[in-house]
This record gives sequence, C-alpha cells and structure tokens, in this order.
Amino acid sequence: MRVLVVEDEPDLLSALVQTLQEEGYAADQAADGHEGLFKAESSDYEAIILDLMLPGIDGLEILRRLRQQRRKTPVLILTARDSVNDRVTGLDTGADDYLIKPFALSELLARLRALIRRNAGQVDPLIQISDVVINTTTHTVCRNGTEVPLTAREYALLELLTLYRGKLITRSMIYEQLFGDDDDTLSNVVEVHVSHLRKKLGKDFIQTRRGQGYQVDGSETDDV
Ligand code: CA
Repeated sequence: MRVLVVEDEPDLLSALVQTLQEEGYAADQAADGHEGLFKAESSDYEAIILDLMLPGIDGLEILRRLRQQRRKTPVLILTARDSVNDRVTGLDTGADDYLIKPFALSELLARLRALIRRNAGQVDPLIQISDVVINTTTHTVCRNGTEVPLTAREYALLELLTLYRGKLITRSMIYEQLFGDDDDTLSNVVEVHVSHLRKKLGKDFIQTRRGQGYQVDGSETDDV
C-alpha cells in the first residue's frame, strides 16, 4: 500500500517513513506544503499522513484543495495543536482521523490500517478466502491454520489483491501501490512476487488476467 507522509520536522519525517517501510508500505515523503500538495495531487495514495503546521501551504489548505478536487484518499492529520477547534476544523474539512503529537507509532499504524481497510470497504480486520486467512492487524497469513511466512512485499501485494478481491488489479496499480518514489523497480518483480505467493498459497489463489493484471476471486468465507 502506498502512503504519503507530509511533515516538516526532519527527525519525525524520517522516523515515520522508516517505520512505514518496515511495515511493508511504500512510503513517499514531503517536507513542506508545496511538495505535499504536488505529490498528493499527482499520485493515487491509499492514505495520506498530513501535518497541519507546514511551511509553504498549511495542512488544512492542502486538505481543502484535495477535497475540492473530489479526491477521496483517506487523510490522517497530525497536529501539535491540541485545541478542540483545530480538530473540529480538520474533520469538517474532510480529514478522516487525527492524532495529537506526541503520539505512539503503534497507534498511528493501527489508525492507518483502519483507514485503509474502511476505504476498501473491509470492516473486519480478518479476511478469509477459501483456506487462507489474512490478518490485516498483525500482517500475518495462515493457510489451513498454519502460518505462512511472507516477505513484507509479498504481504503488501497479497493485502492489495485481497482487500480489493473480485476486482482486476492492474500492473500499474500494483506498481503504484507497492513501490515508493525511492524504490528501484524491476519490470519482472511483480511476476516474481506473484509466483512466490502462488507457491505458498496455492497456484489458483491468484488469477492472471493476461495483458491486464491480477485478481483474487471469491467472496469472503463467513465465520472466520
Ligand atoms: Ca509541522
């Protein structure tokens, strides 16, 4: 999942980006309002983490412009301003959630997971498809009750395909969501990840739509 972090405190920005990358996100960064707005307008992010007090254009103005353009990307506001007014204004402007600095990274990650899940129409943190259960909270995957070890990239690809199961996920969407600005992408790398996932989860788990992309079929199994 590709996310954007807009934050002007260098230490916090690099800590956030590093943590997100360790969690398997493709994380892009922007250190001021102009760069933040530019990136938010030019890529499709699964979520944006947005500081309010920014040089250039402030976070609320960025949010206002994104919502005016009818961009629905979930936005989580980070703010040191602990006043009720700021939070109300942020939410009324179209933010989906907020965190007050200082915050625990674990809480930020949990809120981010919830935003991405809800945006995909997935309320339950567990996704079950045939004999495979994906836990989007712990980023673990079980098949027939046994945990299947996945790399962070494999997990990210699996989560993308299963959150949007039943829909064709094009190769360009996969590249957009799995690789950040700083990633070195090789053209065959998606096929390699798909092939590894098929070995681990069964060869029919992911279908290839030739020349278009990939798809995981099937409605969710009840009674996880
Ligand atoms: Ca700031």
